[in-house]
Amino acid sequence: MGPGAFKSCPSSPETLLKYYRCRYPVGFDAGFRRAIMNIGTARADPGEVSQGWLDVTDLPTGGTERLPVVVVAGEHEGPTLWVTASLHGNEVTPLAVAQDLVRSLSPTDLRGTLIAVPILNPAGLRLTKRRSYYHRDDPNRYFPALDREGTPEDEERAKPPRTQERIDRRVHDAIAESANALLDLHTAQVGSLPYLIRDQVCFGPERDRETAEELNETFDAVLSAMGLPVVNEFPVPEYFERNFHRTLSGSVLNTLGIPAATVELGGHTVVDEAVRERALCGLARVMATLDMLDGPGTLDTPDVFGAFGAVSDRTSNGTNANETATADSIDSPVSHPVKRHDGPRVSNTGIVRHRLEPGDIVEAGDPVAEVVTPHGEVTETVESAHDGYVLARKPGVSVYANDAIYSMAVRDDSDRVVPRDGDGE
Ligand SMILES: [Zn+2]
Repeated sequence: MGPGAFKSCPSSPETLLKYYRCRYPVGFDAGFRRAIMNIGTARADPGEVSQGWLDVTDLPTGGTERLPVVVVAGEHEGPTLWVTASLHGNEVTPLAVAQDLVRSLSPTDLRGTLIAVPILNPAGLRLTKRRSYYHRDDPNRYFPALDREGTPEDEERAKPPRTQERIDRRVHDAIAESANALLDLHTAQVGSLPYLIRDQVCFGPERDRETAEELNETFDAVLSAMGLPVVNEFPVPEYFERNFHRTLSGSVLNTLGIPAATVELGGHTVVDEAVRERALCGLARVMATLDMLDGPGTLDTPDVFGAFGAVSDRTSNGTNANETATADSIDSPVSHPVKRHDGPRVSNTGIVRHRLEPGDIVEAGDPVAEVVTPHGEVTETVESAHDGYVLARKPGVSVYANDAIYSMAVRDDSDRVVPRDGDGE
């Protein structure tokens, strides 16, 4: 796919502009707000780049926990895109992507504003752990949200919010004041295929069905531009049972009504350079779809890589850094829609021998793994119950009865716009 890749996106920038003008009629008369943008101590006039900090909590040992923020304010009017990263502290390719994106953007070429937060969970990052250490909570389950009846969940709580929830609220409030779209960058299991998670859009007391359909259409356009396989999120009601409506993207999409998605950029713990390059290119295409950039070629990637050069500079095919910015997208291995699925599950306790790799296609009934004894004798052949493909293997080889052994993307025919209190599929 070449520089024109984003043009295959089903919604034109004009459609998106119409959407935003309709959504923000006040102050958007000439298109978009073009004001001084400040997040925490980062404060940028149009045409400026500002680095700063967003204070999120005091620390018992003195000082303050603070999140790094970069505001790139374009010289020209346009929407505000948030790119957030490393909400799980061991997911580090996103951190590199967010840093490189802001370093490769020029405010002169930019219409609108990019707000990047490369480290959303400093307490997790210091330890290379998913969770923050304040109370060992998962930071991606505490963003403000409406429950299935459309009531704000925090109003019903008996207990006051703990530190991580207070931090999540602080971030959420900053996003609510400024964002037109958000991409929250994560990683999945070791060796995972990169993919995008697409939440269902709920309608109910907070928005009618027509508005939800419109939001879903805009959301689709943003997702297509990223150039990664799209995997539908666990459907309602499992979505609510797993607290996924309180993830950052779930909260921004379904509570604030702003297009938002979780992007899974391969595996955790170390930066995957090939995935980092693809993600930068995908984000440039998203920004082109939002009419913020002319295209991926606008990114000044050589500056990012400095003396080291891009990964593809160092490969034998001699691809240069500028071509890197138009690197191929990753297509879905299958043509039908898919949703996330944890499975299949084993019946026996033992040692699992996975037989499939990330990206492998399966049909219902296909053998996918064996369970063996400590001496290596097979006690069970595990079959897939669904059509789909493998996203990743679950970590480890020790399994107990009913453990899921793969993260899968399986055939899905559910509606993408659903009643908040409905039964989903
Ligand atoms: Zn994550």
